[in-house]
Amino acid sequence: MDVRRRQTKTPQSVKIATGEPPMKPHNHPLPKASDVLPLPLYLINGLFFTMFFSVMYFLLTRWREKIRNSTPLHVVTLSELAALVSLLASIIYLIGFFGVDFVQSVIYRANEDAWDVEEEENEKFIIEEDSRMGASPATTLGCAVPVVPIVPAQPTKVPVTENPAPIITPQSSEEDEQIVNSVVEGKTPSYSLESKLGDCKRAASIRREALQRITGKSLEGLPLECFDYESILGQCCEMPVGYVQIPVGIAGPLLLNGTKYMVPMATTEGCLVASTNRGCKAIYASGGAICTLLKDGMTRAPAVRFGTAKRAAELKFYLENPLNHETLSVIFNKSSRFARLQGIQCAMAGKNLYIRFTCSTGDAMGMNMVSKGVQNVLDYLENDFPDMDVIGISGNFCSDKKPAAVNWIEGRGKSVVCEAIIKEEIVTKVLKTNVAALVELNMLKNLTGSAIAGALGGFNAHASNIVSAVYIATGQDPAQNIESSHCITMMEAVNDGKDLHISVTMPSIEVGTVGGGTQLASQSACLNLLGVKGASKELAGANARLLATIVAGSVLAGELSLMSAIAAGQLVKSHMKYNRSSKDVTKISS
Ligand code: ADP
Repeated sequence: MDVRRRQTKTPQSVKIATGEPPMKPHNHPLPKASDVLPLPLYLINGLFFTMFFSVMYFLLTRWREKIRNSTPLHVVTLSELAALVSLLASIIYLIGFFGVDFVQSVIYRANEDAWDVEEEENEKFIIEEDSRMGASPATTLGCAVPVVPIVPAQPTKVPVTENPAPIITPQSSEEDEQIVNSVVEGKTPSYSLESKLGDCKRAASIRREALQRITGKSLEGLPLECFDYESILGQCCEMPVGYVQIPVGIAGPLLLNGTKYMVPMATTEGCLVASTNRGCKAIYASGGAICTLLKDGMTRAPAVRFGTAKRAAELKFYLENPLNHETLSVIFNKSSRFARLQGIQCAMAGKNLYIRFTCSTGDAMGMNMVSKGVQNVLDYLENDFPDMDVIGISGNFCSDKKPAAVNWIEGRGKSVVCEAIIKEEIVTKVLKTNVAALVELNMLKNLTGSAIAGALGGFNAHASNIVSAVYIATGQDPAQNIESSHCITMMEAVNDGKDLHISVTMPSIEVGTVGGGTQLASQSACLNLLGVKGASKELAGANARLLATIVAGSVLAGELSLMSAIAAGQLVKSHMKYNRSSKDVTKISS
């Protein structure tokens, strides 16, 4: 703060500058400390400012402690009394020198800063399931964000630009300029640039320029450079014009099945990584989590139709007959070294038959692989069932990227259960709550609340937050977060009610470590960090299965932390408010 600069203005001149009428000068102004003390003015100002801030800090710290310990604020100690007197003295001096408005604003800022710290500590770990809807940022994200009143949006007229002004960036060569113009005029299809030019980066650059000129909208801010456009060709994204940057945070170490993992999470949701990290800390301090793989099989279900329901049923009986399994497996498996048919489950709707094939897919997530196998079988069936009409290779009984009970009940991809016993002192010290509050919250929120809401696989606090962040970081298909986030979180008091047993059961984690986005440089680096990059050298599928357990372990950490934040922030308070058993619930252990 530049105190000397302020010396040049009297309080009166400040008021004039703000347009307020000047105050009449006092005939006999009160003597100021600066008049009395034989010190330079800036030293005296500095002295009073230091006194003001240190006393203010001391008092706020004391008040915070009192609030925590439920000590009445009006009970003051001698040191607090002395501090109050010093504060009063410094305020009187500062008002005399700088005016009331300035001192008010300083006090407001000092208060704000001090309470921000408090808010952060208490609410840092609360991350709401749906932070983009409704509630204020402060409550949803759990960060100390100032609450801004919501002003109803005024209807605005969106200007309709008939011919937007072209944004023209000079091209590096005359040839490129001609190609841009050709795309703008519609003579060269944008999608054909890669194959025509044989240079993916150049194609993206030309497409981007043409897009800007056509729309009249700038893409400044969307980076183009420093990306390997060859790596996405024909696999990850068509017609690229740049790439979106998402920050990657690290939670961990996550101690899972005796191994430590540093978990990369790509997210723009503040506090998510910090919260998961706190959960990891609690798990680590309690001896780690154990994850068990229950099933590993990707599914695809074509829809076929017959002239009669009887014929459809005949195919159902044929496909589900164990005697035919070997023949069908040979046909299904022939298109891949890794796809191995596990089973076929049929569902009928009149004359229509939905055939759900399940197969293992090695380290690939497996959608391509399973689809190829299904096509082999459909081709084969045409011999014995020539009246079969294939409606589509996917008839939604699979079920991919949609909430569906079949995945929740039967599983899809990797089905896992992950558990940990969190010790009582860790629940208290790290998670700042208690076992009884957590168990009750889980029952009322994740089980009962979700039942009331008619949830399908949503018996958890925010599994999808963690699943999505890990999926984006590791190159998984983020749309599969829908079924991959199916999760039931269970909590129980164990060891005579002292410790917490927590588990997450997730039947449909769809992940791979080869194929799709996993081979891109950034995503591949994140997989490498977890030690699951690419195909497993020891056992086909081991990397993908390990990744699924890490996802579940991270979800366990996320559940633990958010549930604790809610229990500490709301449930404990409501216990106190309604005085359920006239006991301090923070001390209840069972
Ligand atoms: P998806 O089936 O998940 O869509 P892709 O078809 O894109 O995946 O990628 C799987 C490809 O990777 C297949 O061609 C497969 O032969 C190859 N591959 C190499 N090693 C493995 C492995 N360990 N597990 C699964 N697939 C593998």
